[in-house]
Amino acid sequence: MIIENHKDLREHNSFGVSAKCSTFVTLESEEDIEVYLHSPSEHFVLGGGSNVLFTQDVQGTIVNVALDHIEEVKRTEDHVWLTVGAGMNWHNFVMHCIAQGYGGLENLSLIPGTVGASPIQNIGAYGVEIMDLISEVVAYRVSDAKPQTFSNGACEFSYRDSIFKNRLKGQYLISHVTFKLTTNHHQINTSYEPLAKAIAEQNVANPSIKQISDAVIQIRQSKLPDPAVLGNAGSFFKNPIISTEQASLIKSEYPALKSYPVDDDYVKLPAAWLIDQCGWKGTRRGDAGVHEKHALVLVNYGRATGLEIYELSEEILQSVVSKFGIRLEREVNVI
Ligand SMILES: Cc1cc2nc3c(=O)[nH]c(=O)nc-3n(C[C@H](O)[C@H](O)[C@H](O)COP(=O)(O)OP(=O)(O)OC[C@H]3O[C@@H](n4cnc5c(N)ncnc54)[C@H](O)[C@@H]3O)c2cc1C
Repeated sequence: MIIENHKDLREHNSFGVSAKCSTFVTLESEEDIEVYLHSPSEHFVLGGGSNVLFTQDVQGTIVNVALDHIEEVKRTEDHVWLTVGAGMNWHNFVMHCIAQGYGGLENLSLIPGTVGASPIQNIGAYGVEIMDLISEVVAYRVSDAKPQTFSNGACEFSYRDSIFKNRLKGQYLISHVTFKLTTNHHQINTSYEPLAKAIAEQNVANPSIKQISDAVIQIRQSKLPDPAVLGNAGSFFKNPIISTEQASLIKSEYPALKSYPVDDDYVKLPAAWLIDQCGWKGTRRGDAGVHEKHALVLVNYGRATGLEIYELSEEILQSVVSKFGIRLEREVNVI
């Protein structure tokens, strides 16, 4: 266990905003987790910091789970089960799987962050959500330091949500995630239009998982700002899910609005379009801004504070409510 005092978190969040914490604890083993949880302080668990916005200094402790091993726990003719430490870098894990010929994660290449955070908001991109590949999650209950295994069903996954972000928020510390991946007969998913287009342009009839991953990386690099260059946390807001009835009403006034069916009664709307219609793309307030190509991505041009970025997000929320009657939800965890 490593304990550091009065640490600046600027290097530990992809917005690159400054915030101090009293204590930063790095847990390097299961034993460390148990020892720490036997007398825990008021804390916040931080992975790679790519889905958080610090709006002020953290009075308590920041806890980082640094376990980063990969263990094969089961294998059948077509599948392999890998148990991975929460602190493992997500993209490095995806690259490891592709190098081994394990399929499933290729569409989720280049998402910043750690393996331990992947179930929290059920990360997803390019037509795939991690809920389709997680077999179980091991998490320690903060109140009594007991490890508990959550089956996929027990994680209560839904769009950018899980039991850990919702009902049990802050009550568990994830130590491991087990993934079920394919070793043969990979389920190649090109349902996301720009990905299908990129693959078609390469004239590849049956793309490999490596080709899919390469295409995803290329699209992401061309579209999304690199946090190392321009501080951001990816999509700041979730795409809202509203009733088909409400969507029809809005569409009657804004025929260009696209919607994607969730079930018979609900549709998902692109939050980026709603924000863009309110004229936010490229807006800048000091060093806090809305990305010039992406209305959904709030950015730190240098020395913005977390509070300034938060206040900008609040203005965006209000304008979308006024124009469309829809209250967007933040995807980013505000602290
Ligand atoms: C450029 C960019 C692009 C992105 N693209 C996508 C995308 O395509 N799809 C997508 O879904 N997300 C995307 N994100 C968001 C982000 O990458 C994911 O949410 C990622 O899973 C966050 O991982 P992290 O380790 O940085 O988590 P953090 O930001 O550190 O934490 C996120 C939440 O998880 C909790 N947490 C983290 N680790 C643990 C643990 N071990 N135990 C308990 N709780 C924990 C934290 O308390 C916090 O509530 C993007 C972000 C950026 C910056």
